[in-house]
Amino acid sequence: MEKVTVHFLGAAGTVTGSKFLVETNGMRIMVDCGMFQGVKSLRELNWQYLPVDASTIDVVLLTHGHMDHSGWLPRLVKMGFKGKIIATRPTLQIAEVILRDSAKIQMEDADRANREEFTEHSPAEPLYDMDDVEHTLKHFKAIHIKEEVELSEIISARFINNGHIIGSTFIELKVGEKLLVFSGDIGRNDDLLMHRPERPTKADVLFIESTYGDRLHPQEDTKDRLRELITRTVALGGTVMIPSFAVERAQTLMYLLWQLRLEKAIPHVPFIMDSPMGANVLDVFRNNPEWHRLSFKDCEEMCHQFDIIRDYKDTMEQVADLRPKVVVAGSGMVTGGRVLAYMAKHLERPESMVLLAGYQAAGTRGRQLQEGATEIKFHGNYHQVKCHLEQLEGLSAHADQAELLDWMGELEEAPQQVFVIHGEALAADNFRLKIKERFGYQASVPMLHDIVELQLE
Ligand SMILES: [Zn+2]
Repeated sequence: MEKVTVHFLGAAGTVTGSKFLVETNGMRIMVDCGMFQGVKSLRELNWQYLPVDASTIDVVLLTHGHMDHSGWLPRLVKMGFKGKIIATRPTLQIAEVILRDSAKIQMEDADRANREEFTEHSPAEPLYDMDDVEHTLKHFKAIHIKEEVELSEIISARFINNGHIIGSTFIELKVGEKLLVFSGDIGRNDDLLMHRPERPTKADVLFIESTYGDRLHPQEDTKDRLRELITRTVALGGTVMIPSFAVERAQTLMYLLWQLRLEKAIPHVPFIMDSPMGANVLDVFRNNPEWHRLSFKDCEEMCHQFDIIRDYKDTMEQVADLRPKVVVAGSGMVTGGRVLAYMAKHLERPESMVLLAGYQAAGTRGRQLQEGATEIKFHGNYHQVKCHLEQLEGLSAHADQAELLDWMGELEEAPQQVFVIHGEALAADNFRLKIKERFGYQASVPMLHDIVELQLE
Protein backbone atom coordinates (compact mmCIF):
# COMPACT_ATOMS: atom_id res chain seq x y z
CA MET A 1 0.00 0.00 0.00
CA GLU A 2 1.28 3.42 -0.91
CA LYS A 3 1.88 6.07 1.68
CA VAL A 4 -0.96 8.47 2.55
CA THR A 5 -0.15 11.51 4.69
CA VAL A 6 -2.72 13.94 6.10
CA HIS A 7 -1.97 17.46 7.33
CA PHE A 8 -4.63 18.80 9.70
CA LEU A 9 -4.60 22.47 8.69
CA GLY A 10 -7.92 23.48 10.28
CA ALA A 11 -10.99 22.23 12.17
CA ALA A 12 -8.65 20.23 14.41
CA GLY A 13 -9.25 21.01 18.08
CA THR A 14 -11.66 23.72 16.90
CA VAL A 15 -14.78 24.03 14.75
CA THR A 16 -13.75 26.47 12.02
CA GLY A 17 -11.06 26.65 9.33
CA SER A 18 -11.77 23.17 7.88
CA LYS A 19 -8.73 22.24 5.75
CA PHE A 20 -7.19 18.80 5.28
CA LEU A 21 -4.28 18.19 2.95
CA VAL A 22 -3.91 14.63 1.72
CA GLU A 23 -0.59 13.67 0.10
CA THR A 24 -0.36 10.41 -1.77
CA ASN A 25 1.01 8.97 -5.01
CA GLY A 26 2.57 12.27 -6.00
CA MET A 27 -0.69 14.21 -5.57
CA ARG A 28 -1.71 16.88 -3.10
CA ILE A 29 -5.46 17.02 -2.50
CA MET A 30 -7.07 19.57 -0.21
CA VAL A 31 -10.42 18.66 1.32
CA ASP A 32 -12.28 21.88 2.24
CA CYS A 33 -10.63 25.27 2.43
CA GLY A 34 -12.39 27.08 5.22
CA MET A 35 -11.87 30.33 7.06
CA PHE A 36 -11.05 30.38 10.77
CA GLN A 37 -13.73 32.38 12.60
CA GLY A 38 -14.39 33.51 16.16
CA VAL A 39 -11.93 34.99 18.64
CA LYS A 40 -8.94 36.99 17.40
CA SER A 41 -6.33 34.28 18.00
CA LEU A 42 -8.26 31.99 15.66
CA ARG A 43 -8.88 34.65 13.02
CA GLU A 44 -5.16 35.42 12.92
CA LEU A 45 -4.56 31.87 11.68
CA ASN A 46 -6.06 33.01 8.37
CA TRP A 47 -2.86 34.99 7.76
CA GLN A 48 -0.56 32.01 8.21
CA TYR A 49 1.27 30.41 5.35
CA LEU A 50 0.66 26.83 4.31
CA PRO A 51 3.30 24.18 5.01
CA VAL A 52 3.48 23.57 1.26
CA ASP A 53 3.58 25.88 -1.74
CA ALA A 54 -0.05 26.50 -2.80
CA SER A 55 0.91 26.02 -6.45
CA THR A 56 1.84 22.38 -5.69
CA ILE A 57 -1.69 21.53 -4.51
CA ASP A 58 -3.42 19.74 -7.38
CA VAL A 59 -7.08 20.01 -6.49
CA VAL A 60 -9.56 21.14 -3.79
CA LEU A 61 -12.67 19.12 -2.94
CA LEU A 62 -15.42 20.99 -1.07
CA THR A 63 -17.94 19.25 1.19
CA HIS A 64 -20.25 22.31 1.28
CA GLY A 65 -20.38 26.06 0.84
CA HIS A 66 -20.34 27.38 4.41
CA MET A 67 -17.69 30.01 5.22
CA ASP A 68 -15.74 27.74 7.56
CA HIS A 69 -15.40 25.20 4.70
CA SER A 70 -14.95 27.46 1.64
CA GLY A 71 -14.06 30.95 2.91
CA TRP A 72 -10.27 30.65 2.52
CA LEU A 73 -10.35 29.68 -1.19
CA PRO A 74 -9.52 33.17 -2.57
CA ARG A 75 -6.52 33.29 -0.28
CA LEU A 76 -5.35 29.92 -1.62
CA VAL A 77 -5.75 31.16 -5.20
CA LYS A 78 -3.96 34.39 -4.33
CA MET A 79 -1.08 32.26 -3.01
CA GLY A 80 -0.73 30.52 -6.37
CA PHE A 81 -3.16 27.57 -6.38
CA LYS A 82 -3.81 26.60 -10.02
CA GLY A 83 -6.03 23.51 -9.86
CA LYS A 84 -9.77 22.84 -9.94
CA ILE A 85 -12.15 23.41 -7.04
CA ILE A 86 -14.62 20.54 -7.23
CA ALA A 87 -18.04 20.28 -5.56
CA THR A 88 -21.74 19.89 -6.28
CA ARG A 89 -23.42 22.69 -8.21
CA PRO A 90 -25.39 24.19 -5.29
CA THR A 91 -22.26 24.08 -3.10
CA LEU A 92 -20.38 26.17 -5.65
CA GLN A 93 -23.33 28.58 -5.95
CA ILE A 94 -23.50 29.01 -2.16
CA ALA A 95 -19.71 29.42 -2.01
CA GLU A 96 -19.92 32.18 -4.61
CA VAL A 97 -22.53 34.08 -2.56
CA ILE A 98 -20.48 33.65 0.60
CA LEU A 99 -17.12 34.59 -0.92
CA ARG A 100 -18.48 37.77 -2.50
CA ASP A 101 -19.99 38.81 0.81
CA SER A 102 -16.79 37.93 2.66
CA ALA A 103 -14.61 40.00 0.30
CA LYS A 104 -16.97 42.96 0.66
CA ILE A 105 -16.88 42.81 4.47
CA GLN A 106 -13.10 42.46 4.53
CA MET A 107 -12.58 45.36 2.15
CA GLU A 108 -14.93 47.53 4.25
CA ASP A 109 -13.20 46.50 7.48
CA ALA A 110 -9.77 47.31 6.07
CA ASP A 111 -11.03 50.70 4.81
CA ARG A 112 -12.54 51.53 8.17
CA ALA A 113 -9.38 50.49 10.02
CA ASN A 114 -7.30 52.71 7.75
CA ARG A 115 -9.70 55.64 8.07
CA GLU A 116 -9.89 55.44 11.83
CA GLU A 117 -6.22 54.46 12.15
CA PHE A 118 -6.80 51.81 14.78
CA THR A 119 -4.77 49.20 12.98
CA GLU A 120 -1.45 47.77 14.13
CA HIS A 121 -0.73 46.91 10.50
CA SER A 122 -0.54 50.01 8.40
CA PRO A 123 -2.11 50.10 6.02
CA ALA A 124 -4.62 47.38 6.92
CA GLU A 125 -5.25 44.96 4.07
CA PRO A 126 -8.12 42.59 3.42
CA LEU A 127 -7.32 38.87 3.40
CA TYR A 128 -8.62 38.99 -0.18
CA ASP A 129 -10.65 41.35 -2.32
CA MET A 130 -13.36 41.04 -4.99
CA ASP A 131 -10.79 40.47 -7.78
CA ASP A 132 -9.39 37.50 -5.85
CA VAL A 133 -12.92 36.12 -5.61
CA GLU A 134 -13.45 36.55 -9.37
CA HIS A 135 -10.22 34.62 -10.04
CA THR A 136 -11.32 31.90 -7.63
CA LEU A 137 -14.66 31.36 -9.36
CA LYS A 138 -12.81 30.44 -12.57
CA HIS A 139 -11.44 27.35 -10.81
CA PHE A 140 -14.91 26.01 -9.91
CA LYS A 141 -15.96 22.70 -11.43
CA ALA A 142 -19.38 21.22 -10.65
CA ILE A 143 -19.87 17.46 -10.50
CA HIS A 144 -22.95 15.28 -10.13
CA ILE A 145 -23.86 13.62 -6.91
CA LYS A 146 -22.31 10.13 -6.60
CA GLU A 147 -20.38 10.55 -9.86
CA GLU A 148 -16.94 8.90 -9.71
CA VAL A 149 -14.54 11.82 -10.27
CA GLU A 150 -11.11 10.62 -11.44
CA LEU A 151 -8.25 12.64 -9.99
CA SER A 152 -5.50 10.35 -11.25
CA GLU A 153 -5.18 6.76 -12.42
CA ILE A 154 -5.57 5.42 -8.90
CA ILE A 155 -7.28 8.26 -7.03
CA SER A 156 -10.95 9.19 -7.34
CA ALA A 157 -13.61 10.99 -5.34
CA ARG A 158 -17.38 10.71 -4.84
CA PHE A 159 -19.68 13.30 -3.26
CA ILE A 160 -22.76 12.01 -1.39
CA ASN A 161 -25.65 14.00 0.16
CA ASN A 162 -25.42 14.53 3.90
CA GLY A 163 -28.41 16.81 4.44
CA HIS A 164 -26.70 19.72 6.25
CA ILE A 165 -27.35 22.60 3.83
CA ILE A 166 -28.24 22.78 0.17
CA GLY A 167 -25.55 20.97 -1.86
CA SER A 168 -23.77 19.55 1.18
CA THR A 169 -22.03 16.19 0.96
CA PHE A 170 -19.65 13.85 2.59
CA ILE A 171 -16.71 12.86 0.40
CA GLU A 172 -15.31 9.43 -0.32
CA LEU A 173 -11.69 9.68 -1.46
CA LYS A 174 -10.53 6.42 -2.98
CA VAL A 175 -6.79 5.77 -3.09
CA GLY A 176 -6.14 2.44 -4.76
CA GLU A 177 -8.38 0.01 -2.87
CA LYS A 178 -8.60 2.18 0.26
CA LEU A 179 -11.42 4.53 1.11
CA LEU A 180 -10.96 7.75 3.09
CA VAL A 181 -14.31 9.27 4.17
CA PHE A 182 -14.60 12.96 5.12
CA SER A 183 -17.94 13.58 6.80
CA GLY A 184 -18.20 17.34 6.14
CA ASP A 185 -20.94 18.74 8.36
CA ILE A 186 -23.73 16.22 8.92
CA GLY A 187 -27.39 17.31 8.86
CA ARG A 188 -30.37 16.37 11.00
CA ASN A 189 -32.39 13.21 10.53
CA ASP A 190 -35.61 15.23 10.19
CA ASP A 191 -34.73 18.58 8.72
CA LEU A 192 -37.62 20.72 7.50
CA LEU A 193 -35.98 21.56 4.18
CA MET A 194 -33.17 19.08 3.54
CA HIS A 195 -33.38 15.43 2.54
CA ARG A 196 -32.22 12.95 5.12
CA PRO A 197 -28.42 12.49 5.21
CA GLU A 198 -27.11 9.40 3.44
CA ARG A 199 -24.63 7.30 5.38
CA PRO A 200 -21.34 5.63 4.49
CA THR A 201 -21.25 1.84 4.52
CA LYS A 202 -17.49 1.53 4.09
CA ALA A 203 -14.54 3.57 5.36
CA ASP A 204 -10.95 2.49 5.89
CA VAL A 205 -10.25 5.87 7.44
CA LEU A 206 -13.04 8.08 8.77
CA PHE A 207 -12.79 11.81 9.49
CA ILE A 208 -15.93 12.71 11.41
CA GLU A 209 -17.18 16.09 12.61
CA SER A 210 -18.12 16.59 16.27
CA THR A 211 -19.65 20.10 16.46
CA TYR A 212 -22.40 18.77 18.74
CA GLY A 213 -20.45 15.66 19.77
CA ASP A 214 -21.22 16.21 23.45
CA ARG A 215 -24.85 17.34 23.23
CA LEU A 216 -28.37 16.41 22.28
CA HIS A 217 -30.58 19.07 20.73
CA PRO A 218 -33.52 20.14 22.91
CA GLN A 219 -36.88 18.78 21.83
CA GLU A 220 -38.70 22.02 21.17
CA ASP A 221 -41.69 22.56 18.92
CA THR A 222 -40.11 25.51 17.11
CA LYS A 223 -43.17 26.38 15.09
CA ASP A 224 -45.41 26.52 18.14
CA ARG A 225 -42.95 28.66 20.04
CA LEU A 226 -42.67 31.01 17.09
CA ARG A 227 -46.48 31.23 17.01
CA GLU A 228 -46.65 32.11 20.67
CA LEU A 229 -43.89 34.75 20.55
CA ILE A 230 -45.23 36.47 17.43
CA THR A 231 -48.80 36.51 18.74
CA ARG A 232 -47.67 38.03 22.02
CA THR A 233 -45.50 40.72 20.39
CA VAL A 234 -48.10 41.73 17.80
CA ALA A 235 -50.71 42.06 20.55
CA LEU A 236 -48.42 44.61 22.22
CA GLY A 237 -47.98 46.47 18.92
CA GLY A 238 -44.29 45.48 18.64
CA THR A 239 -41.98 44.18 15.93
CA VAL A 240 -40.23 40.79 16.07
CA MET A 241 -36.61 41.00 14.87
CA ILE A 242 -34.96 37.67 14.08
CA PRO A 243 -31.23 37.98 13.37
CA SER A 244 -30.46 35.11 11.04
CA PHE A 245 -27.69 33.44 9.06
CA ALA A 246 -28.38 33.87 5.35
CA VAL A 247 -27.70 30.27 4.37
CA GLU A 248 -30.41 27.82 5.39
CA ARG A 249 -31.51 29.40 8.68
CA ALA A 250 -33.26 32.27 6.90
CA GLN A 251 -35.02 29.84 4.54
CA THR A 252 -36.10 27.59 7.42
CA LEU A 253 -37.56 30.59 9.26
CA MET A 254 -39.37 31.66 6.09
CA TYR A 255 -40.76 28.16 5.76
CA LEU A 256 -42.07 28.13 9.37
CA LEU A 257 -43.59 31.60 9.06
CA TRP A 258 -45.28 30.59 5.81
CA GLN A 259 -46.72 27.49 7.50
CA LEU A 260 -48.04 29.56 10.39
CA ARG A 261 -49.72 31.91 7.92
CA LEU A 262 -51.27 29.01 5.99
CA GLU A 263 -52.66 27.65 9.23
CA LYS A 264 -53.91 31.14 10.16
CA ALA A 265 -52.19 30.57 13.50
CA ILE A 266 -50.83 34.10 13.84
CA PRO A 267 -52.19 37.60 13.17
CA HIS A 268 -51.73 38.83 9.61
CA VAL A 269 -48.70 41.17 9.80
CA PRO A 270 -46.02 41.83 7.16
CA PHE A 271 -43.13 39.36 6.88
CA ILE A 272 -39.87 41.01 5.88
CA MET A 273 -36.80 39.12 4.64
CA ASP A 274 -34.11 41.78 4.67
CA SER A 275 -30.86 40.23 3.53
CA PRO A 276 -29.42 40.53 0.02
CA MET A 277 -27.38 37.42 0.74
CA GLY A 278 -30.45 35.52 1.94
CA ALA A 279 -32.22 36.53 -1.27
CA ASN A 280 -29.32 35.12 -3.31
CA VAL A 281 -29.51 31.86 -1.37
CA LEU A 282 -33.23 31.67 -2.23
CA ASP A 283 -32.18 31.74 -5.89
CA VAL A 284 -29.95 28.72 -5.21
CA PHE A 285 -33.02 26.94 -3.78
CA ARG A 286 -35.06 27.85 -6.87
CA ASN A 287 -32.30 26.60 -9.20
CA ASN A 288 -31.74 23.27 -7.47
CA PRO A 289 -35.16 21.76 -6.68
CA GLU A 290 -33.80 18.20 -6.41
CA TRP A 291 -31.70 19.27 -3.44
CA HIS A 292 -34.49 20.13 -1.00
CA ARG A 293 -38.00 19.22 0.05
CA LEU A 294 -39.81 22.29 -1.30
CA SER A 295 -41.50 22.00 -4.67
CA PHE A 296 -41.08 24.87 -7.12
CA LYS A 297 -44.65 25.90 -6.29
CA ASP A 298 -43.92 25.79 -2.53
CA CYS A 299 -40.86 27.96 -3.07
CA GLU A 300 -42.84 30.54 -5.03
CA GLU A 301 -45.74 30.58 -2.57
CA MET A 302 -43.40 30.90 0.38
CA CYS A 303 -41.47 33.78 -1.20
CA HIS A 304 -44.75 35.45 -2.15
CA GLN A 305 -45.58 35.91 1.56
CA PHE A 306 -42.49 38.04 2.11
CA ASP A 307 -41.22 41.49 1.27
CA ILE A 308 -37.77 40.39 0.12
CA ILE A 309 -35.55 43.43 0.47
CA ARG A 310 -32.25 43.93 -1.34
CA ASP A 311 -32.05 47.73 -1.50
CA TYR A 312 -31.01 49.62 1.63
CA LYS A 313 -33.47 52.43 0.81
CA ASP A 314 -36.33 49.94 1.28
CA THR A 315 -34.79 48.85 4.58
CA MET A 316 -34.98 52.42 5.88
CA GLU A 317 -38.66 52.66 4.84
CA GLN A 318 -39.45 49.47 6.74
CA VAL A 319 -37.51 50.67 9.79
CA ALA A 320 -39.43 53.95 9.92
CA ASP A 321 -42.79 52.15 9.81
CA LEU A 322 -43.62 51.24 13.41
CA ARG A 323 -46.56 48.95 12.66
CA PRO A 324 -46.09 45.38 13.94
CA LYS A 325 -44.18 43.02 11.67
CA VAL A 326 -41.79 40.08 11.63
CA VAL A 327 -38.30 40.79 10.29
CA VAL A 328 -35.72 38.16 9.36
CA ALA A 329 -32.39 39.90 8.72
CA GLY A 330 -28.64 39.30 8.84
CA SER A 331 -26.34 38.90 10.50
CA GLY A 332 -27.06 35.85 12.60
CA MET A 333 -24.91 36.92 15.55
CA VAL A 334 -25.69 40.67 15.21
CA THR A 335 -22.08 41.38 14.22
CA GLY A 336 -23.29 43.57 11.35
CA GLY A 337 -25.84 43.58 8.57
CA ARG A 338 -29.32 45.02 8.12
CA VAL A 339 -30.67 43.78 11.44
CA LEU A 340 -28.78 46.65 13.11
CA ALA A 341 -30.92 49.21 11.27
CA TYR A 342 -34.06 47.66 12.82
CA MET A 343 -32.41 47.41 16.22
CA ALA A 344 -31.45 51.10 16.18
CA LYS A 345 -35.18 51.83 16.17
CA HIS A 346 -36.73 48.93 18.06
CA LEU A 347 -34.31 47.90 20.83
CA GLU A 348 -35.62 50.75 22.95
CA ARG A 349 -39.28 49.81 22.44
CA PRO A 350 -40.52 47.57 25.29
CA GLU A 351 -43.25 46.15 23.03
CA SER A 352 -40.75 44.78 20.46
CA MET A 353 -38.71 41.59 20.59
CA VAL A 354 -35.31 40.27 19.53
CA LEU A 355 -35.59 36.57 18.82
CA LEU A 356 -32.19 34.85 18.61
CA ALA A 357 -32.41 31.82 16.35
CA GLY A 358 -28.95 30.31 16.45
CA TYR A 359 -25.62 29.89 18.16
CA GLN A 360 -24.15 33.18 19.48
CA ALA A 361 -20.35 33.07 19.68
CA ALA A 362 -18.37 34.71 22.47
CA GLY A 363 -17.52 38.31 21.71
CA THR A 364 -20.54 38.99 19.46
CA ARG A 365 -23.41 41.41 20.10
CA GLY A 366 -25.74 38.44 19.87
CA ARG A 367 -23.97 36.89 22.86
CA GLN A 368 -24.18 40.20 24.76
CA LEU A 369 -27.94 40.31 24.18
CA GLN A 370 -28.27 36.66 25.14
CA GLU A 371 -26.47 37.39 28.40
CA GLY A 372 -28.88 40.23 29.23
CA ALA A 373 -26.89 43.34 28.24
CA THR A 374 -28.85 46.51 29.04
CA GLU A 375 -27.12 48.41 26.25
CA ILE A 376 -25.13 47.47 23.17
CA LYS A 377 -22.94 49.60 20.94
CA PHE A 378 -23.14 49.83 17.16
CA HIS A 379 -22.75 52.45 14.44
CA GLY A 380 -20.76 54.48 16.97
CA ASN A 381 -23.60 54.80 19.53
CA TYR A 382 -24.87 52.99 22.59
CA HIS A 383 -28.42 51.67 22.31
CA GLN A 384 -30.54 50.86 25.36
CA VAL A 385 -32.07 47.39 25.34
CA LYS A 386 -35.65 47.70 26.58
CA CYS A 387 -37.37 45.23 24.28
CA HIS A 388 -38.03 41.54 25.01
CA LEU A 389 -35.37 38.98 24.30
CA GLU A 390 -36.17 35.35 23.48
CA GLN A 391 -34.44 32.39 21.85
CA LEU A 392 -35.40 29.59 19.51
CA GLU A 393 -33.43 26.46 20.30
CA GLY A 394 -34.60 23.88 17.79
CA LEU A 395 -33.21 25.16 14.48
CA SER A 396 -29.72 23.67 14.27
CA ALA A 397 -28.56 22.32 10.89
CA HIS A 398 -26.06 20.03 12.64
CA ALA A 399 -26.59 16.46 13.75
CA ASP A 400 -26.42 16.10 17.52
CA GLN A 401 -24.49 13.38 19.33
CA ALA A 402 -27.13 10.69 18.78
CA GLU A 403 -27.50 11.58 15.10
CA LEU A 404 -23.71 11.56 14.59
CA LEU A 405 -23.55 8.08 16.09
CA ASP A 406 -26.47 6.97 13.87
CA TRP A 407 -24.60 8.27 10.85
CA MET A 408 -21.58 6.09 11.65
CA GLY A 409 -23.79 3.15 12.47
CA GLU A 410 -24.05 1.72 8.97
CA LEU A 411 -20.36 0.99 8.46
CA GLU A 412 -20.16 -2.71 7.72
CA GLU A 413 -16.65 -3.09 9.10
CA ALA A 414 -14.59 -1.18 11.64
CA PRO A 415 -12.46 1.57 10.05
CA GLN A 416 -8.72 1.16 10.54
CA GLN A 417 -8.54 4.72 11.84
CA VAL A 418 -11.09 7.29 13.02
CA PHE A 419 -10.26 10.98 13.44
CA VAL A 420 -12.66 13.20 15.36
CA ILE A 421 -12.50 16.69 13.85
CA HIS A 422 -14.51 19.92 13.66
CA GLY A 423 -15.34 20.23 17.37
CA GLU A 424 -14.25 22.28 20.37
CA ALA A 425 -11.82 20.27 22.52
CA LEU A 426 -14.46 19.03 25.00
CA ALA A 427 -17.06 18.10 22.39
CA ALA A 428 -14.47 16.22 20.30
CA ASP A 429 -13.08 14.28 23.23
CA ASN A 430 -16.50 13.44 24.57
CA PHE A 431 -17.49 12.13 21.15
CA ARG A 432 -14.27 10.10 20.91
CA LEU A 433 -15.30 8.31 24.13
CA LYS A 434 -18.84 7.76 22.84
CA ILE A 435 -17.47 6.14 19.67
CA LYS A 436 -15.39 3.78 21.80
CA GLU A 437 -18.37 2.97 24.00
CA ARG A 438 -20.85 2.41 21.16
CA PHE A 439 -18.70 0.71 18.50
CA GLY A 440 -15.44 -0.20 20.24
CA TYR A 441 -13.43 1.87 17.72
CA GLN A 442 -10.26 3.63 18.86
CA ALA A 443 -10.66 7.20 17.62
CA SER A 444 -8.21 10.06 17.97
CA VAL A 445 -8.58 13.82 18.16
CA PRO A 446 -5.88 15.45 16.04
CA MET A 447 -4.38 18.81 16.99
CA LEU A 448 -4.06 21.73 14.63
CA HIS A 449 -1.00 21.31 12.33
CA ASP A 450 -0.62 17.60 13.10
CA ILE A 451 0.82 15.54 10.26
CA VAL A 452 -0.28 11.91 10.31
CA GLU A 453 0.82 9.04 8.13
CA LEU A 454 -2.20 6.78 7.76
CA GLN A 455 -1.84 3.18 8.89
CA LEU A 456 -3.34 1.25 5.99
CA GLU A 457 -2.95 -2.48 5.77
ZN1 LIG B 1 -21.58 23.81 7.71
